[in-house]
Amino acid sequence: MDLGQPEEHALLKATVRGFIRTHLRPLEATVDRDDDVDPQVLQSLRAEAMKLGLYGYNMPVELGGPGLSIAAQCVIDEEVGHTSMPLGETLGHLPGSIRFSNDEQRQWFVRPLMEAKTTVAYALTEPSAGSDLSAIRTHAVRVDGGWKLNGDKHFISNMEHADHVIVLAVTDREAPLKGKLSTFIVERRNPGLVFTRRFRKLGWHGYHLAAFSLDDCFVPDSHVLGQPGQGFQAMMATINNDRLFVAARCVGIAQALLDLAIPHVKQRITFGKPLAEHQAIQFALADTDVELDAARLLVRKAAALGDASHPEFRIAASRAKLYASEMGGRVADRVLQIFGGDGFMTDLPVERFYRDVRGFRIGEGTSEMQRIQIARSILA
Ligand SMILES: Cc1cc2nc3c(=O)[nH]c(=O)nc-3n(C[C@H](O)[C@H](O)[C@H](O)COP(=O)(O)OP(=O)(O)OC[C@H]3O[C@@H](n4cnc5c(N)ncnc54)[C@H](O)[C@@H]3O)c2cc1C
Repeated sequence: MDLGQPEEHALLKATVRGFIRTHLRPLEATVDRDDDVDPQVLQSLRAEAMKLGLYGYNMPVELGGPGLSIAAQCVIDEEVGHTSMPLGETLGHLPGSIRFSNDEQRQWFVRPLMEAKTTVAYALTEPSAGSDLSAIRTHAVRVDGGWKLNGDKHFISNMEHADHVIVLAVTDREAPLKGKLSTFIVERRNPGLVFTRRFRKLGWHGYHLAAFSLDDCFVPDSHVLGQPGQGFQAMMATINNDRLFVAARCVGIAQALLDLAIPHVKQRITFGKPLAEHQAIQFALADTDVELDAARLLVRKAAALGDASHPEFRIAASRAKLYASEMGGRVADRVLQIFGGDGFMTDLPVERFYRDVRGFRIGEGTSEMQRIQIARSILA
């Protein structure tokens, strides 16, 4: 039973699934093994996603996006969970803060981004500020015609090859958090933006996280996103959607793992019968089925609240993100165990999902940050 999911969701799902099967699946193992992917290949995949009208699928119509409901975006994100992180990004999930762009910025910044001609990275995290963004030290001071930025950012996804980096910086140290920060669009080629390193990491191979410093980096007034002092608001504008997108991806990963496990347990014989006939394996599958359904329902509930602009959307998105990302880890562990030695080997994508799903308990607000929000809400 589909609980009243609109017909176009089935079409979206089939379209994304077809795109992944045809264009992305053949590359997944190589990209993961090489921990790299040619930016030209990514560019041509973005062009393919453009042809389907899917690129920038989380963007509103006024920015050139398809203006999909949050529920429809979650359908896409769940399907994207079936592929790897670097390849899934070719569908163009773009930073929500670009909604703060003005008419002029929409011409030179947003339009080429939406046409998949350029890419953007989003830089909040610093060595001394991750969960606690009030500790951000990167600062911008006013100079003639613009701002001068100094500071260090790290763990920034896809910044190496991006054309622009959206940077959050302190512009008023004395102001409360809501007025303290501003958002800047920094050209990647700006000589004041210095790439410092790429991180090696557990999963998300081929999807690079990097560090950079801003060294007296001049940014003109035309490159301030929103008003000075609106950085916090720009960051918060789509934080709930982004948490929900993580939750939906984790549902997709868990579904992909279950889809791999079912034919395997029917075919693999131990002690004279298929794995599927051993009760311990049946219980593992049953637990996976229940947890997956629960996570999917949390995602759908949060999406419905978001589409209705309901005030409970924020907590519903936190619940979905917390539960789905942790559920994804449990399912990956269980399915790897069901596959035995095969699960540990790189011939199958099981171990890749096992590694990749872990990152989702950290990015877009850690599990602990979600628990803090949920606890505050129920105690209030
Ligand atoms: C794969 C990946 C991609 C990323 N991409 C980006 C990106 O594109 N742009 C960007 O800006 N950042 C990015 N990040 C950074 C990410 O947002 C931060 O890692 C995350 O916010 C956590 O910050 P931190 O690593 O500094 O951990 P910390 O904030 O130092 O926290 C360490 C641990 O302590 C816990 N903790 C902290 N405070 C409390 C508390 N009060 N109570 C209980 N527990 C607490 C945290 O939950 C965590 O488990 C990415 C990270 C990863 C892993």
